[in-house]
Amino acid sequence: MMRLQKYMASCGVASRRKSEELIKNGQVKVNNKIITELGTKIDLHEDIVKVDDKKISIELKKVYIMLNKPLGFITTSKDDKDRRIVTDLIEGVNERIYPVGRLDADTTGLILLTNDGDIAYKLMHPSKKIEKRYIVVVKGTPNKAELEKLRNGLFIDGRKTAKAGIKILKNFDTDSILDIKIHEGRNRQVKKMCEAINHPVKKMKRISIGEIQLGGLDVGNWRYLNDEEIKYLN
Ligand code: URA
Repeated sequence: MMRLQKYMASCGVASRRKSEELIKNGQVKVNNKIITELGTKIDLHEDIVKVDDKKISIELKKVYIMLNKPLGFITTSKDDKDRRIVTDLIEGVNERIYPVGRLDADTTGLILLTNDGDIAYKLMHPSKKIEKRYIVVVKGTPNKAELEKLRNGLFIDGRKTAKAGIKILKNFDTDSILDIKIHEGRNRQVKKMCEAINHPVKKMKRISIGEIQLGGLDVGNWRYLNDEEIKYLN
């Protein structure tokens, strides 16, 4: 939401002060109704503002954000269980951004958000072979043969997975930590792969998408991508 006169100024109609005059003069309509109240707030994405009956708009700039997704948040916009949505964590961004690809509610880590419609295809379509890397805690310790299955592909939902990069990072008594790299993005793919070798996932986190690294960003925090990262995406 934005104050009407600020919106008008952002659209390049006039200065804020001059915009206030236009409002008071009855020259401004919001959704075809004349508005003379200066404090009126408008929704940048929903409301139609006209000055002297001419529609005005902000040329929306492209924004690219990374978030370290906490547990419990979902990356889709609607949820029948009323769980929280990742975009609720991004404050102070006027553009209407949405998540690129998906992470399960119980997966943490790197998710990108943007209003650039081309990016999802570039990063997420399997033909682009962009590697997504996960740190995954699984139950038990996969043996060599099981690790080979993960690497070479195994059947989930009746279709074989593509080759994957698999490393064991650590073994504990009851669990192991794996480093898993895949470039497909099938529904719950990592979990289904680990289930298929009888080492179900207990916890997982995404740490990179192609060259975009989560780095030291704390859980729940976000930042704009830097120029180099944006260049990589484009
Ligand atoms: N694979 C999964 O199983 N879950 C995710 O969130 C991402 C990849």
